[in-house]
Amino acid sequence: MPLSDPTACRVFDVQRFSIHDGPGIRTTVFLEGCPLRCAWCQNPEAFQRGVADALSPEAVLAEVLKDRDFYAVSGGGMTVSGGEPLLHLAPVRALLEAAKRHGLDTCVQTSEAVPQGHLAAVLGLVDLFAVRPEAHERGAAPRAHGSGP
Ligand code: SF4
Repeated sequence: MPLSDPTACRVFDVQRFSIHDGPGIRTTVFLEGCPLRCAWCQNPEAFQRGVADALSPEAVLAEVLKDRDFYAVSGGGMTVSGGEPLLHLAPVRALLEAAKRHGLDTCVQTSEAVPQGHLAAVLGLVDLFAVRPEAHERGAAPRAHGSGP
């Protein structure tokens, strides 16, 4: 997809069968870009802007939907992480909207280091927020959850 498309998702990893990124079995999509530099960060590739694949939300979702049977039996779904996934609002919102069109449970892992309007803009599309920077660490156990509407 053209990089100029505002909904292009800069994806640096897609992790299937995630069991620590929200309830059930999930697919975690890692988006590029983070305004923080936590000393413990294990995802430094998130800092390198412009090197991740630019994919349409539909292309990302096609990968996520491969495991939808597992989501159904386990109460799982799609988790969007990073980096800071809410840094770039248009792509993450388009991705969440696409997931909801397919009836998927959605989780967003965020440091909340984004404009407040970005959180408000996705509220109705997110079933669960995992809020704390370390929630981004791949394979880390969840420590704090706030539920969406
Ligand atoms: S918020 Fe997450 S991705 Fe960003 S620096 Fe901290 S641990 Fe790394």
